[in-house]
Amino acid sequence: MDAEQFREFGKAAVDYIADYFETIRDRPVLSNVQPGYLGDLLPKDPPQNGESWRDVLQDVDRIIMPGITHWHSPHFHAYYPTAHSFPAVVGELMSAGFGVVGLSWIASPAMTELEVVMMNWLGRMLGLPEEFLNCSEGPGGGVIQGSASEATYVGLLTAKEKKVKDLMEEDKNLTEAEIKGKLIAYSSDQSNSSVEKAGLLGSMVMRLLPTNKEGQLTGETLQEAINKDKAAGLIPCYVVANLGTTPTCAFDNLEELGPICKKENVWLHVDAAYAGTAFVCPEYRHLMKGVEMSDSFNFNPHKWMLVNFDCSAMWIRDAKYLVEAFNVERIYLKDQHKGLAPEYRHWQIALGRRFRALKIWFVLRIYGVEGIQKHVRNQIGLAKYLEDLVKKDSRFESCSCSMGLVTFRLKGDDSLSKKLLQKISDRKNVFLIAGHLNGKFVIRYAVCSRLTEKRDVDFSWKEITEAAEEIVPSKISSQDIPDKKSIHALDIKTLNGNIEKSK
Ligand SMILES: *Cc1c(COP(=O)(O)O)cnc(C)c1O
Repeated sequence: MDAEQFREFGKAAVDYIADYFETIRDRPVLSNVQPGYLGDLLPKDPPQNGESWRDVLQDVDRIIMPGITHWHSPHFHAYYPTAHSFPAVVGELMSAGFGVVGLSWIASPAMTELEVVMMNWLGRMLGLPEEFLNCSEGPGGGVIQGSASEATYVGLLTAKEKKVKDLMEEDKNLTEAEIKGKLIAYSSDQSNSSVEKAGLLGSMVMRLLPTNKEGQLTGETLQEAINKDKAAGLIPCYVVANLGTTPTCAFDNLEELGPICKKENVWLHVDAAYAGTAFVCPEYRHLMKGVEMSDSFNFNPHKWMLVNFDCSAMWIRDAKYLVEAFNVERIYLKDQHKGLAPEYRHWQIALGRRFRALKIWFVLRIYGVEGIQKHVRNQIGLAKYLEDLVKKDSRFESCSCSMGLVTFRLKGDDSLSKKLLQKISDRKNVFLIAGHLNGKFVIRYAVCSRLTEKRDVDFSWKEITEAAEEIVPSKISSQDIPDKKSIHALDIKTLNGNIEKSK
């Protein structure tokens, strides 16, 4: 394919994506295909001779699109959002277009340097302590990882190396193997599955401690667990605190956990994968009070900050530990710029790195901080709106509402809510998933798509209540009819309008 054909193919592909977004609201959010559908539609072998891009694009529409789950449909409310914005899509295109691999500063100076500045911008936007930033005097710094999972794992490996070094300095008779066999990590039973996985990958027992009724890990629980382990001769090493758990978006109290980690010389990593974006709005920063006591902090711009997957922002208070843990020098990697710019390959698992900073830069310049704040506030407002609808229907109970996530259930036995979710799923018009809260089955409703508006929440509620009608018929009473004026203080239409304009 030559550059002229690329122009045509590329423009046609951009048109295809733009058309897709203009029609996404009207597509059923869930696909209708059966497992194995694609194998039957594709030839057994690759084509011997090259084909025309037009045929390929046609097949995308014919056989790929039917198997797509529409994550950016305003009727997608499962999991958490995965970010999407047109500026970020163009950022991805440019990154692929340049096709550089940033394994050192000289391998593409702009790539390292834009990443350094973007991590400073993001840190400032969130109000993180200055010592975490690349631009601070000290050894702190930020890096873009591929995922929150990797950040948690990198934090664990760094904590492990630091602990081994500290203890071997204290006692020359100890061996590395002796220490490593006794290290223990802690998080809560509400933490993401990736936290447990980090323990498995890093060969460190990860204790998932019980949480309180609000889904938070308390200082008391952590201290008890640490005391018990120490009494048994084990060595506490790593704690993962959650700011915005996956089941209910609960926030651990860092002011309680931080001092314990300091006192016990345990590495404190903060997993704010989804909810970290909310700290762009100053009114939510109280939820990260105590963050200055953490050793590493991570959130995913690829979840709620409109930067397409993959893009996970991680800061380390003292990057020296990280570089010491991961530094493997080879002669072909040496260059004369050592020390003047971070060599990010020592901050991550892989050697190669993508040019991810570009899409952050595009999004932040084209939306501005204000555009991101509006997006966050708008989505929180929509979640509150759904919570109000749930509360007004006496058949339902609202179980939690935090950030853009609401959980609710039908009053009574779990089987009723299970049946309800099954019926909603069978209709395939909105996509919701289940959760558990305090031992009860709940339905999770996350505001995910940036296209979601009040009318889409109304649509969801209609889907939910129509399905509920078949399980618990409502007695029509004036109480159950939502009062339009009191529903929602924000004028969501206006907010959406502003975001559109700011693009
Ligand atoms: C989504 C999520 C993760 C996993 O994020 P990845 O970037 O996909 O690894 C981890 N922790 C929390 C709290 C999450 O919400």
